[in-house]
This record gives sequence, C-alpha cells and structure tokens, in this order.
Amino acid sequence: MSSPPPTIPMRKWDKYVKRNDTGHIIGIVDGAPELAKDAYNRAIDYNKWLLEKTANDLKKMVDAGFEHYQFVATLDEVTCPICGSLDGNVFKIADAAVGVNSPPMHIGCRCVTTIVFTDEKLANSNRFARDRDGRGIKVRADVFYPQYKQKYIDNPE
Ligand SMILES: [Zn+2]
Repeated sequence: MSSPPPTIPMRKWDKYVKRNDTGHIIGIVDGAPELAKDAYNRAIDYNKWLLEKTANDLKKMVDAGFEHYQFVATLDEVTCPICGSLDGNVFKIADAAVGVNSPPMHIGCRCVTTIVFTDEKLANSNRFARDRDGRGIKVRADVFYPQYKQKYIDNPE
C-alpha cells in the first residue's frame, strides 16, 4: 500500500465548494481558482487512496479470520457528525458498504477501519485526539467520538 497522497485543507476555499445537506463536499463551483481546484483534486485523490486502503485492510482482516471490523473516526473538531456517530461502531465485514458504514464516507473523510479489540485492551490503551485548540492529546482507547466531543470540545475544563 502506497503512502497517502498529500492533501491541502479545503476550508480556505469554502466559498468555491459545493456541499450537500449534511455539509459534505460534493463538488466545486465553475470558475473556481486553480488553487481551489488543486485542493479539491487532491481531496479526490486522497479519497481514492482511502477507498483502496479500506478494501485492503478489510481483506487482510478476512484473511486473518476476523468477521467484524470497527469504524474509527478522527477525534478532532472537524470530524463530521456522521463519521463521529460511527466512531467505535462494530460491523460485519460482509456488510461493509462504502459511504454507509465503511470509509470513505465523503470527500475529505479521514476515517479508517480496524480489527475489534477487547474492552480490556481498549481500556488499557490510548488513542490520539486533538483538544479544542488543536493540541495533540491522548485519550483512553474506549472513548469514542460522542464522549470525546462532549468532554474535550463542548465542555473543556
Ligand atoms: Zn469520515
């Protein structure tokens, strides 16, 4: 598997971006500046890479005898509510459907899949997250997006 293609944050180009009802990028407006098009095309390339990575990861899990996978979203402020609500959910690999319960969920999706770890393993591990100021922090691996958002984004101490 090749390394992920570099992306450029799309936020800067927001006025040139078309979004659907859920806020996901679905295209770019006619006449957008070249740099906005470049950022969009890189996001599309990343999505293709993520599609291939997810398929590879799920295949490796099947080959290793696993029947289920866990959906893993990024714990930071820009994760969308849909990906956030899927974080930590477990699905049958046979039922994996891109854009429904398997990444990429949308252009710009940063989610991945993993094997399902035991509760004990999760309770004794950490996962990377970002606080409201964008600083890297570690949270327990059994903290999923809704709890993370409430504690670190909505009501930080
Ligand atoms: Zn996502």
